[in-house]
Amino acid sequence: MSAAPLLALLIAAAPAAPADVASDPSVRFAPSVVRPGDAILVRVRLPPAGRPPSGTLAGRPLRFWRHGGEKWAIAGLPIETPPGPVALELVWGELDPIRSSASLEVVEPGFPSKTLSVAPKFVTPPASLKARIARDQRAFAAAYARPFVAPLFSGSFAWPHDGAHHGRYGDRRVFNATKASVHYGLDIDAPRGAPVRAANDGEVVLARDCFYSGKTVVLWHGADLFTLYFHMDRLDVRPGAKVRQGEKLGVVGSTGRSTGPHLHWSAKVGELYVDPESLMGIDFASGTAPPRRAGPPPPAPPPAEPPAPTASPEAGAPHAAGPATAPPAADAPARPR
Ligand SMILES: [Zn+2]
Repeated sequence: MSAAPLLALLIAAAPAAPADVASDPSVRFAPSVVRPGDAILVRVRLPPAGRPPSGTLAGRPLRFWRHGGEKWAIAGLPIETPPGPVALELVWGELDPIRSSASLEVVEPGFPSKTLSVAPKFVTPPASLKARIARDQRAFAAAYARPFVAPLFSGSFAWPHDGAHHGRYGDRRVFNATKASVHYGLDIDAPRGAPVRAANDGEVVLARDCFYSGKTVVLWHGADLFTLYFHMDRLDVRPGAKVRQGEKLGVVGSTGRSTGPHLHWSAKVGELYVDPESLMGIDFASGTAPPRRAGPPPPAPPPAEPPAPTASPEAGAPHAAGPATAPPAADAPARPR
């Protein structure tokens, strides 16, 4: 499974790819330059009479649907992906398989670090809350257990609320100077009671009051894609409801592990939480996205107080943060402000 020999091969063989065209001309990526944690639209032009391909990006299987004369898939890139090329591998045909490959450029994201204070119960939940947290985790797992289907939406995603962003995907956070986690969503400023709207067409697969994420909605959009809405004050939808883009899901609040009214918005592709801003950048009508820019150099590790816990997304965050490759049981992205 090691990608190293493959990468070496690609670097040696693949000429620099122009604009949004991968080194294999039948493959396009939207965007063509990505950051770790991004959602990526992979487009494969089918050869005449060709059978559909199967493939992987960064070693993770792709699920394709037919879009005109192409096959499209939405991929998520793990947040731990180092800058440099990542490999796309395709296998065409069944009787006489043809292999082809392409590479995608990953740039330094420059995720910042910050420290936060929350009530101690959110850092070390008392034993009395364990059963509730476990029930929440099972509810999330059940919500994510969906078959692969073509997208339930046709156009691009829309912001669930129009507000400034103060906490971004990939922020490294230390809670109460002890517990490290990574922020797997976007915090949108909003007053209590402001409407929270569906980012795209889909189906409500979870509407529940959870310990960490408070009053929560999860929408399933098909194509292995989900969006999550946390800390709401009131939920206006029920599981099973079909919603259209812009439909009201509830109102902004500060329920669960939150330090004040705002909307935490997450997006998930398969098992991976992806950067919602990358999803917003994809134009699903044209199949294009502007290339993503590199962020500042990685932050220096914080001065050692208690043993500095920064490196691994999993570090010290067994239930709240969930590793980047979120197991279905993970309650969801870590949260406070
Ligand atoms: Zn958040």
